[in-house]
Amino acid sequence: MMRKHGKCAYCGQEKTLCSSHAIPYAFFKEMLRKGDGKAIAIPAGHGRIHFDSDSGADYLLCVECESYFNTEFDRPLIFSINKFNNNEDENKLSIVSEIFVRSLASIVWRACVSNAVFYSHIQVNKVICNYFLQLFSDVSKNPLDYCSVGVSVLHDPLPVENGGFDKESLKQVVFPISMKHTGYNNKKHNTHMFLKMCFGGFLIEIFVPRLPFMVRKSPKFIRKNCDSIRPVLTDIFSHDELREHMVSGYKKYLEGDVSAGVIRSRS
Ligand SMILES: [Zn+2]
Repeated sequence: MMRKHGKCAYCGQEKTLCSSHAIPYAFFKEMLRKGDGKAIAIPAGHGRIHFDSDSGADYLLCVECESYFNTEFDRPLIFSINKFNNNEDENKLSIVSEIFVRSLASIVWRACVSNAVFYSHIQVNKVICNYFLQLFSDVSKNPLDYCSVGVSVLHDPLPVENGGFDKESLKQVVFPISMKHTGYNNKKHNTHMFLKMCFGGFLIEIFVPRLPFMVRKSPKFIRKNCDSIRPVLTDIFSHDELREHMVSGYKKYLEGDVSAGVIRSRS
């Protein structure tokens, strides 16, 4: 593992820092390992970047904090997503809702403080950054009192024989994180911060602050104190951010200007 000396973003101590990921490396691994020429890397900005940045790594955390994040947040998340993807649980995603949401909040916080090119498009201020920090670090609070989280499985309604993405390809789509202000249910004024990210075949949507009950009772939203959810399917092309990201990424791929971000081509 690559190391460097500096200030840890979490504990604030001057220490040896690890090359840390926001979206866990496990979700990039399969794509990078296969390297069969079908994986397309999508830049957030311009130009080619080296291997380490391809998965959005940056020197963020000291060895102790990195290991804490890996154990507390990344491992449970990877475990439940892999279990779902291996069909071990009949379309149920086994999660402890509060732990799952803390893991996601920790990813967003790491992306906010990261200087990796992969996350360079995220416009954040300290308030947002600290909001997510509180969501995972303050264990006296239930994070679902402060945000609403929707979980769906990426799906391409177009059959594979007509050029649609198959399930395995969709598991390899990694979409960094988009953030925008929004109103819910077509309300005109912006009331919420709305984030989207994709990895492991899932689309994760986060709203802060929490949505009103009538909105968050939709089946895709995680409820408090639950131990599993049945994620709904979502058409990958029904999300403007994802579609644009994929189209511009594919264009850049064809032009030979490839860096961070991941998608598989239709082939
Ligand atoms: Zn630290």
